[in-house]
Amino acid sequence: MVSRNENDSKPDAGAENLSLPSPPEWPDYGLERLPSCPVCGAAERSLVHLGLTDRIFYCAPGAWTLYRCAACRCGYLDPRPTPQAIGLAYAEYYTHAAPEEEVFLSSSTFIGRRLSALRNGYLNARFPHLALTPSHRLGARLLALFPATRALAERDVRHLPAPAAGARLLDLGCGSGAFVRRAISLGYAAEGLEFDALAVEAAVSKGLPVRVGALPATGLEADRYEVVTLSQVIEHLHEPQAALREVHRLLKPGGWFWLATPNLDAPGHAHFGPDWRGLEPPRHLVLFSAQALSLALQQAGFVDIEFKPPGAVSAWLWSSSLRISKNARLGTPITLPPDLARLARSEDRESLANPVAGEELVVMARKLPK
Ligand SMILES: [Zn+2]
Repeated sequence: MVSRNENDSKPDAGAENLSLPSPPEWPDYGLERLPSCPVCGAAERSLVHLGLTDRIFYCAPGAWTLYRCAACRCGYLDPRPTPQAIGLAYAEYYTHAAPEEEVFLSSSTFIGRRLSALRNGYLNARFPHLALTPSHRLGARLLALFPATRALAERDVRHLPAPAAGARLLDLGCGSGAFVRRAISLGYAAEGLEFDALAVEAAVSKGLPVRVGALPATGLEADRYEVVTLSQVIEHLHEPQAALREVHRLLKPGGWFWLATPNLDAPGHAHFGPDWRGLEPPRHLVLFSAQALSLALQQAGFVDIEFKPPGAVSAWLWSSSLRISKNARLGTPITLPPDLARLARSEDRESLANPVAGEELVVMARKLPK
C-alpha cells in the first residue's frame, strides 16, 4: 500500500481551522454489517468512536463507527464498506511514482553525517551484499551507543536477517516497489505483489519484479519464500485472518514474516482520540492491539512472535493527527508545539525499551521449521 505519500511532514507555521461540510453518505448497497470480531469471532464489544469521517484524503464518503472487541482488544468498523464498494474509499489515495534510486536516507548536518557513517557501517556489517557510503568501520560496534539511530536503521531493513544466496523475499502490497528495490540491495531475490495496477506499472518501468495481485488469494506457489513482508497493509483487509494464513502458506518452513501496522493502543490515539492518524476511516477496517496481533499470528500458525521497536515515527503521526484535529487539508504545513513534540520524543524513547508502546506495531514471526 502507498500510504505515506501524503505531504504531512513539512515544517511550518500553523494550520487554518477550516470548517468543512459533512461528507456525502456511503451508498447502502456498498455496506456490510460485522456483528462479531474479524480476528477472534467474539461478539462482545465496546464503542470507541462514532461518526468518524475521512479527514486524511477527504475522498471517502460516509461516517463510521469503530468498536473494540472485548476478547482480543482489536478495533473494527461496523458497518464497513463491502469488498465490492471499497474502491470508493481510494479515489484519491494513491500516487504511482516509481521509487527513487536512493534507497537509504542520508543526512546533511555534521552530526547527522557522522551518525549516517556509523549507521552505514552497521548495515554494511549486517548485510555483506551492501556497500553504503560513507561508512565507518566501527559502526557495527558503536551503533549500540545510539539506540534510536540503530532502531531506525533496523526499521529501514525491516529487521531482516542477512539472506543466504538466492533467498527469496516477497513484499505484499508493495506499492511502486520501494522496499523491493531496497531488499534487492540487501542481497535478496526480491519481488512484489500490489493490487493497484498503476503502481505496478511504475515499478515495472523501473525494472522491478512487481506483479498485480492481492491477499488473500495470491495464486502464488506454497513454501516459496524465505521472507514475506507486509507493511501498512493488514489494517486495510476484509479478511485479515485469511491473509495471515496465506502468508504462512507462502513461506518456507523456518521462513520469516515481518509486519507493520498502526497500534490501536498508541499514546497518540489516547491523546488525539477520533483525530488520531492511525484510524484512517474507512480504509482501515481493522486496527490491532499487540494482544490481538499476537493472537492472530498464533491462530495462523506462526511461532517465535517478537515485537520490534518501530523507530522514531511518533512526530510524523502526531503532526498528522494534529492536522486532522484542525480539520486542515492534507499538505497543510503543521509544526508540533513544544509540549507535543516532547511527548512524541518521549514515546519514541519508551518504545525502544517497550516495542508495543509506540504508534505502530512492528512484529516478526516464523513459520515452524521442519
Ligand atoms: Zn476479537
